Parts: sequence; C-alpha cells; structure tokens
Amino acid sequence: MITMKSAREIEIMRRSGKITSSVLAMLLRSAKPGMTLREVDRLAEKGIREQGGIPTFKGYRGFPASICASVNEVVVHGIPGDRVLRDGDILSIDIGTTFQKYVSDSAATVAIGTITAEAKRLLHVTQECLMLGIAAMQKGNRLSDIGHAVQRHAEKNGYGVVRALVGHGVGRSMHEEPQVPNWGRPGEGIILRPGLVLAIEPMITQGTYEVRSLTDGWTIVTADGKLAAHFEHTIALTEEGPRILTLRDHDFMELDVAPYRPKEELAA
Ligand code: MG
Ligand code: MG
Repeated sequence: MITMKSAREIEIMRRSGKITSSVLAMLLRSAKPGMTLREVDRLAEKGIREQGGIPTFKGYRGFPASICASVNEVVVHGIPGDRVLRDGDILSIDIGTTFQKYVSDSAATVAIGTITAEAKRLLHVTQECLMLGIAAMQKGNRLSDIGHAVQRHAEKNGYGVVRALVGHGVGRSMHEEPQVPNWGRPGEGIILRPGLVLAIEPMITQGTYEVRSLTDGWTIVTADGKLAAHFEHTIALTEEGPRILTLRDHDFMELDVAPYRPKEELAA
C-alpha cells in the first residue's frame, strides 16, 4: 500500500530532511585522507542527535551504525569500521534521520583528496542521473518514467545501472511502497500524484551493473570490482512539482534540469 502524505506531514519531513542534508553536507566537507570510516560515522550520529533527530539506520535490521560508508567498489551498505580513507578514494555516504516519527533519506558520493578524471566523471553523471530522475517525478507521469530517465542518462554515458537495489517510498518507515527502480521502460506503474514522497537513489557503475554481497551480510560490491557511485534525495511531489526535502546548500540545482515528461516525448 502506498501512503500519501498531507501538507502537514510533508512539512515535518522537510524538517527531518533539513537535519539529514545539513549533516550530510558537513560529512562531505569533513571526510579526508587519514580518517577512519568510524570517525565519519561518529560525526554523523553527533550531528543528527544535536539537532533533535534519531539516526534511522542505527539498529535498522541490526545495522550497527548511523551511516552506510561505501568506498570505491562498494556500491552501498558499507559498515563504517576501521578502514582508513586514502587519497584517491571515492566515498559514498548514505544517511537517514527520524524526526517526529518521519524519516528522511539521502546519499552522496564524494572525492577523498585527488581522484582521477574518470572517477570525477562517474560522480558527475550519477548526480545528473539523480536530478534527471527527480525531474521526471511530475504530476501525471508514471512511476517508471523516473527509472527510465536515470537509465537513459547512465547508459548514454557508458555506465551500468544497478538492478538489485532500488529507491522507495519513505515516510513513517524508511522503506515504504512503491519500489523505485533506476531502470525501465517509460509509461508503466502508478500515476504520480501530489502527496507521494519518494527516495530516488541511482547506483551507477563504471563496468557491469552486477553486484554481489560480502559475508558481513551488508556490504554490496560491484561484481567486477570497478567503481560505483550513489546519490539519493527524499522528494515530495507537490502541486508545484517535485520538492527536494534533503536539498543541500551546495547541491546540484545549477544543472537546471527541465521537467522530463516522456509521455509528451512519445506522443510527439
Ligand atoms: Mg539512503
Ligand atoms: Mg534509500
């Protein structure tokens, strides 16, 4: 069942999202060569709690930390332990806050020190994929239009779109219906209506889209060991269009992505 949110609920989720986005922005600035992932996690938990939030991930199905910290070939769900960040790594940070019972969920991949031009391009294109997916979250569009927009951009750039993991509805629970795949044909699934709140989260790979799990039961890596990037926002669909509830101060809105309506494209 898909739970639509009222304006009041979206306002609470916006406040939840503000905690998530401000802490994520702080972590993206703070992560440096020589730091351990555990140190990044401690900063995250402190930041969330200082603002009156609860780290949603901590204890979620037994997850031991407040963030997922995924380095290089780790796609998602890396456990922040004693691994030390090195110059040239890319680090994906996934973070969630529960505030007044409502969850916000966001992720970004950041360069640690100096990274290669190829890695930079992967980060840039993955962030573009997210924004294009959001641009497809328009009233009257279909759910699969989002994934179609993501896949089209990723594959045009020679990248893989992870199939095994998807975005999701979000609200009182972190993972609500519907599932939001990052691939697919346009024009399928539910019609998008105001009150829908989704976490859209493309996971984009340099090589194959195939992934595998490590024996810790959490960590997901690319099957070929190549790099993966992950960007995620929590977005409410309003009468005025998609509203990013986890927008950061220096986010990517300068991309100026126009609303994407494949229905019109197909009809033209
Ligand atoms: Mg997330
Ligand atoms: Mg999510």
